[in-house]
Amino acid sequence: MSDHAISKLSGGRPRKTYDTGRNCAYEGCTTRLSSYNKNEFCWTHFQPVPKPARIPADN
Ligand SMILES: [Zn+2]
Repeated sequence: MSDHAISKLSGGRPRKTYDTGRNCAYEGCTTRLSSYNKNEFCWTHFQPVPKPARIPADN
């Protein structure tokens, strides 16, 4: 039994990553972004664009 063949197979294509060492683009936030995070904000500050909450005023 040998697993040297398996370790050879694991050296395939590099995984898609993004630049490391990036910080969150949110002003004042120094959270380091993961290289797997394609957004420019950390997960705390990344939010989908909020839809304008228009509550129909009954007047
Ligand atoms: Zn942030």
